[in-house]
Amino acid sequence: MLNTKGLELDSQLYGILQRELGRQRYKLEMIASENFVSEAILACGASVFTNKYAEGYPDRRYYGGCEYADELEILTQSRARKLFGAEHANVQPHCGSSANMAAYFSVLKPGDTILGMDLAHGGHLTHGAQVSFSGRLFNCRFYGVRQDTELIDYDQVFELSESLKPKIIVAGASSYPRIIDFSLFREAADRCGALLMVDMAHFAGLVAAGLHPSPIPYAEIVTTTTHKTLRGPRGGMILCRKKFAKAIDDQIFPGVQGGPLMHIIAAKALALGEALEPDFIDYQRQVLKNTKRLAVRLADAGFRLVSGGTDTHLLLVDLRGTGLTGQAAQTALDLAGITANKNAVPFEKERFSVASGLRLGTAALTSRGLLEADMDEVSDFIIDALRHTDDDGRLKKIGQRVEEFTLRFPLYPNLLI
Ligand code: PLP
Repeated sequence: MLNTKGLELDSQLYGILQRELGRQRYKLEMIASENFVSEAILACGASVFTNKYAEGYPDRRYYGGCEYADELEILTQSRARKLFGAEHANVQPHCGSSANMAAYFSVLKPGDTILGMDLAHGGHLTHGAQVSFSGRLFNCRFYGVRQDTELIDYDQVFELSESLKPKIIVAGASSYPRIIDFSLFREAADRCGALLMVDMAHFAGLVAAGLHPSPIPYAEIVTTTTHKTLRGPRGGMILCRKKFAKAIDDQIFPGVQGGPLMHIIAAKALALGEALEPDFIDYQRQVLKNTKRLAVRLADAGFRLVSGGTDTHLLLVDLRGTGLTGQAAQTALDLAGITANKNAVPFEKERFSVASGLRLGTAALTSRGLLEADMDEVSDFIIDALRHTDDDGRLKKIGQRVEEFTLRFPLYPNLLI
């Protein structure tokens, strides 16, 4: 149990923390980018390393007293290299966005061309969207998915890379439910002389478990978050070839960040250690089984899935033709105790704030111990809620059943907040 002595005196804050723990415990967490870390990882994040400034890198810090910070960062880097078979690891990024920012800054100048995946087709904001620093600083162009298959249009990737001659091609996505063929991206990059960067934030855990092809042999630079399928603390990481190590390190610090969050690096070390254990592979296998089961149940109930299914931890429901928007579905599910998010589906006309899709992931529920038969019950809750979005009474009743269901999968039973 974390030591919370003194915190109860701040009743306002204590209440907020308690309510959030209750929300996580008694609702079904299906946001595809979220997960539940182990209690030991929580403890690392709450450790005394939060007190330590350690600007710089091991053996070349700008502060004294960094001997244990050095030991910690060296350990974390070596686990990251080992887990993914990478030549170099920078474990300091505070988040996925700063990892991507530093990666771009290490090899691009403002105005250079990036070819990334369209946000509306599953890409991430930092892959060139106008509202992100990436779209403001660079000339960003986009590939997407084919309308007939909803799979990445690799022909378009080849055509655009040859005509635009981007400096960098970015592969990776936030709401693409299928395996990505990195060898084709490599070929496209080689043909036009571009670098290849893969943002594996969503599927890093699957890569670590050998259940998704690894981008490491194909890409000069691989970025990731540590908190999605990788099941670590909220943060980021960059893996790259030795040739890019100095440029990447210089762009994380002092390029875009100040002092590293050493407590979070401790938590990353533990998450990477957990991911090196054999049962992490079992966990990821179960994630895939659970997502497939959910996909089958939703499809059997008449819901259309983008690309017809999933190979990963997530799926995307296309709500067009059901009379529902993504926003309406998200709101109804919330009342029914299921947390998910609206999402654009390829080629749709709605605003992002309304959207026509619903993204669902199973990484967090699988961490709670749910198996395929449990996913059947979860699917029933979702289907019931989506069929009765206008019936608040019924949605609340589903929420009560969900709460009872969650009691079978205790979450952080030793924690008070
Ligand atoms: N890259 C991808 C593919 C993502 O899906 C996300 C977040 O969801 C990020 C980067 C950004 O991560 P962060 O929210 O930690 O900045």
